[in-house]
Amino acid sequence: MPVNRDLWNEPLSRNYTPNWHCSICGGGNLRLAAESLHALATAESIRQQDHPAWDADWSKLRFSAMLKCNNHACMESATIAGKGRVEMVQTSDHDYDYVEFYTPEFFKPSPTLILIPKECPGEVIDQLQQAFVASWGDASASANHIRMAVERLLDHIKQPRTRISPKGKRELLSLHKRIEGLASRDKQLSDSLLAVKWLGNAGSHSDSLSREEYSTHSIHLNQHFKHCSPRTGKRLKCL
Ligand SMILES: [Zn+2]
Repeated sequence: MPVNRDLWNEPLSRNYTPNWHCSICGGGNLRLAAESLHALATAESIRQQDHPAWDADWSKLRFSAMLKCNNHACMESATIAGKGRVEMVQTSDHDYDYVEFYTPEFFKPSPTLILIPKECPGEVIDQLQQAFVASWGDASASANHIRMAVERLLDHIKQPRTRISPKGKRELLSLHKRIEGLASRDKQLSDSLLAVKWLGNAGSHSDSLSREEYSTHSIHLNQHFKHCSPRTGKRLKCL
């Protein structure tokens, strides 16, 4: 299952909640809690209302809302906030209406954006969950958490963090060197982690990794991470 880009791109409205899965129970979907959605026009948007050509679809909004899991055995709640816009939509053959659409820039706890293997180490899951939360509003921060998830995975399988230099000095290994060193133990896992690390690099070297770039680069994240945990378990037994 690749990363589902629709999860990021599909907007919320008062009458429609995208198919966001509950990350706590895994079986329910998050639904907008009645009357929890509040929205206001931005200051700039209010000033533009004096323009003679102003129309409602010029409006820019900020919103906050609560979601609730529809699994009655779970009932987890989530907080979202972000930006909104107004669009004219066709409501029947001859009728049109203005509808407000909202895009989250904060979402906690975030839906799980990739399928995490159940054997995945807890410290790796922690970083991935932080990556999911950050992915809604700060793609660079999210990419950094993915890079840290790779570091934690290497720690878990006891891939060395340091080496002894030719002069006998203890030196820290870069993440890239650690992953390269893993190739002699497990080439497939090493190749997968190099691909995941590329996304982390994009976040580290840019203050403005766009949501679209993040989305493009992370599309196959799950395909790489799915190799990690089960193989990790086997590897630990033979260390
Ligand atoms: Zn739930």
